[in-house]
Amino acid sequence: MNVTTTVARIPNLHKVLSGISYSWRIGKIFGVPTDLHWTFVFVPTAILYFAYTPGYGMNWQSAAWWSTIALLLFTFILVHELGHALVARDRGVRADRIILFPLGGGAYLPDQPKQLWAEVLVYAAGPLANIFLAILAWIALLLRPDGELLIAYFLRLSGNIVLRPAILDQILGITLGVNLLLAFGNLLPAYPLDGGRILRALLRKPLGARTSTIVVTALGVLIGIPLVWLGFKLGDPLLACGAVFIILLSGMEYRNGWQRRRLAKTAPKAVLRVSEGEGWRVFTSETVGAVRQRFRASGWPVLPVFNQWNEQIGFVETSVLEEEADSDEEAVAPYCEAEFITAPPEEDLLSVTERIVTANVYGATILGKGGKLIGYVFTEDVMGVLKRRWWVR
Ligand SMILES: [Zn+2]
Repeated sequence: MNVTTTVARIPNLHKVLSGISYSWRIGKIFGVPTDLHWTFVFVPTAILYFAYTPGYGMNWQSAAWWSTIALLLFTFILVHELGHALVARDRGVRADRIILFPLGGGAYLPDQPKQLWAEVLVYAAGPLANIFLAILAWIALLLRPDGELLIAYFLRLSGNIVLRPAILDQILGITLGVNLLLAFGNLLPAYPLDGGRILRALLRKPLGARTSTIVVTALGVLIGIPLVWLGFKLGDPLLACGAVFIILLSGMEYRNGWQRRRLAKTAPKAVLRVSEGEGWRVFTSETVGAVRQRFRASGWPVLPVFNQWNEQIGFVETSVLEEEADSDEEAVAPYCEAEFITAPPEEDLLSVTERIVTANVYGATILGKGGKLIGYVFTEDVMGVLKRRWWVR
């Protein structure tokens, strides 16, 4: 289920979420719209905070150094996401947007490539882009004096350093080390990392979509837990936080997998709302006041709307009337959503819900043989099914 379209139905939650996800468009990079998440304001703030010592003032040299590191990290993450986005576009899949967070990023690909190898390539392209940067840094370091010693030092192969690396060597070393870390870290076979998505794509055919999701999300938790421990052991808060993030997202996707399974095994009958005669039909010719009364009488969150020939044309939602209609005397028609979908009673609830979300409507009208009206399924009632812990069919 697509969360963003579902929350669009809940106005206040939508406002809160769009506040949290606020970002600035920095432009198009190779034609891909690229956004900076608002939490980036913490980056210069943190750099200035840590470069300042009371009594000594601002250490501008330290501020410049950490700004360079931040800029490098930003570039490595951008290159990673561009890897995904550009390969996706090359395989004929839209890349709508790249969003960059201070310590990560995401490429929004609304569709998935049809062929398995194209899908694997799209997910592998991010880590491969980082490996490419690491190789460039490796070659550049080899061309420097004491290059081999420097490489061994930066890869932590020899802890004892007799050299004092120049600034350029340090930057190349960071490019080498961080990109290898980004590449191999993201290739761990755990959801939501690229490696987990590759594994899921590979397992989809032999195991099926739902089981392969369950496998990679379970791996996310299994791999995440020792990584949290390792983060604490090494005193690395980034690793620990990243691992907690992996566990949380895997847990959510795992739950999502079970919920889809549950919906797929449920018939619309379980959440069907049956209209008592014609009493709860809204007609486009009615006033807001009359419809408000009908909402109170029925207790329904949504009511079906009919035209003068008694044909359904859509739905109207009580919260829309409460928030947008000013007076009881005005016509209800402008507040109705003139779109709805129909479904046969045999269709499973997962498929009906997915169609409701895709069409971005309030619900589905369930029609039996010969177009006989059986009842309605509303998204809110489907949410109710998912909240019930012990669902008895
Ligand atoms: Zn990636």
